[in-house]
Amino acid sequence: MDAPKKIVIAGAGLVGSLLAVALKKRGHDVYLFEKREDIRLKNRGAGRSINLIITAKGIRPLQQLGLWDKVKTITSPVAGRLMHSTEGELAYQPYGKDKTECNHSVSRGELNCLLNDEAEKAGVKILFNSTLKRLDLDKKIATFENGESYSYDLLFGADGTNSATRQAMISTLGSKSEYKVEPFGTDYKEMTMPSLNGKYAMDEHSLHIWPRGNHMLMGLPNRDGSFTMTLYMPKEWFDKFKAPGAFEEYFRKYYADAVALMPDFVKDYEDNAQGNLGIVRMNPWVYGDQIALLGDACHAMVPFFGQGMNSGFSDVQFLLDQMNTHLDDYETIMKNYNEFQKPSGDAMADMSLENFTEMCDKVGDAKFLLRKKVENKLEKTFPSEFRSRYGLVTYTLIPYHLVKEVGMIQDKVLDSLCENLTDPEDVNLDHAHKLIQEQIVPWFTKKALSPTRFKF
Ligand SMILES: Cc1cc2nc3c(=O)[nH]c(=O)nc-3n(C[C@H](O)[C@H](O)[C@H](O)COP(=O)(O)OP(=O)(O)OC[C@H]3O[C@@H](n4cnc5c(N)ncnc54)[C@H](O)[C@@H]3O)c2cc1C
Repeated sequence: MDAPKKIVIAGAGLVGSLLAVALKKRGHDVYLFEKREDIRLKNRGAGRSINLIITAKGIRPLQQLGLWDKVKTITSPVAGRLMHSTEGELAYQPYGKDKTECNHSVSRGELNCLLNDEAEKAGVKILFNSTLKRLDLDKKIATFENGESYSYDLLFGADGTNSATRQAMISTLGSKSEYKVEPFGTDYKEMTMPSLNGKYAMDEHSLHIWPRGNHMLMGLPNRDGSFTMTLYMPKEWFDKFKAPGAFEEYFRKYYADAVALMPDFVKDYEDNAQGNLGIVRMNPWVYGDQIALLGDACHAMVPFFGQGMNSGFSDVQFLLDQMNTHLDDYETIMKNYNEFQKPSGDAMADMSLENFTEMCDKVGDAKFLLRKKVENKLEKTFPSEFRSRYGLVTYTLIPYHLVKEVGMIQDKVLDSLCENLTDPEDVNLDHAHKLIQEQIVPWFTKKALSPTRFKF
């Protein structure tokens, strides 16, 4: 084990809390500072009511820290996407290549409470209502809004999209840092579909999507029989819909089958806050051998691949793996973290943007559905050689930037196989196998990787 250090973590959200558990278990003296009050006191399971999908890269560190079995009990399995057309017709797309593969939906608030509990149980000191204001990077002192100051050996900034840690690094690094926020023109609001006679009103093992071009509605099951519904629309529509009756007219027109099951949709829309989205890019993610940024603080992304938290958890995993290998050598740990994990976070942010078009627009498109069916057929026929890009992101531990790289090769193979194809059953499997062996297998061999699934 490495020598114990005094560690300050800014942000007791999902990523900061998981990191705190991990570092405390390594024997460090860990202080976790959180701007908000303790969400567990108010209403367990509250916080932001968003529910999140956990997949392999997020499950791995939970499993390694002995937390996955507990977390699993507060998740619901989601096996595929169910698309709702304007006419109310349904089309189903499984996520995995067979029934053993699924995603896990969890309430963000409930997961945050569980991780806060686990951090405290491990011996982490959590200080709520403590907003990080300033960092003196030379003296290694963190100052909080209430005027208190703490010295540290190491500091981790898991303080989200508007990270104060990141801001302090930028102020000190000046032109040696690069920082960019790419605002996204689409905002969102959460709504609820309550349970119906004590049961789920729609299939509870699917992510429901109403793709409508540049706007969409999504529904993910909660454990109490309800669905959290998220409506994504161009920013300017939120202003347009301030006119009396305008929102109701719009929602009834595009989401008729959902309206029938959402008695309070107008009230939900009026009462709930408008959330905005964007991409954060920062370079470097580290400051010397003393500070690292994690999660949304350095790679906030749009939520359309369901990987924001998962990629933040993979930051924790990477740091832990590095600490196991390099023990006290934080210069090497931080250098490697920046060198390997940053391209991964940036690539996931890129793919999250691409997935917006896929979910909003393409999921209802016949050509896209045909391509997905061909992809699924290849996964089933050549399981040790071919995995869809979605499968590689969600069911393997292959870093995101490498998935993005091989995804481009796979795209070309699929383009060629789907050209002039009208029925996925007609795909020429001999030709497909030849292309996979010539173009895809060599890539995996060269990288010493396998497209097979992470088992947990
Ligand atoms: C609609 C939507 C759906 C999503 N769906 C998914 C999904 O399905 N799967 C997935 O993996 N991800 C999803 N995400 C992304 C996911 O929510 C984020 O990536 C994740 O919450 C990031 O965790 P974090 O700990 O880095 O940041 P946060 O969760 O933002 O936590 C940061 C914490 O730091 C605190 N803080 C902020 N400033 C300070 C300060 N100065 N001092 C002290 N504390 C501070 C905050 O109060 C907060 O508690 C979704 C996001 C949205 C908006």
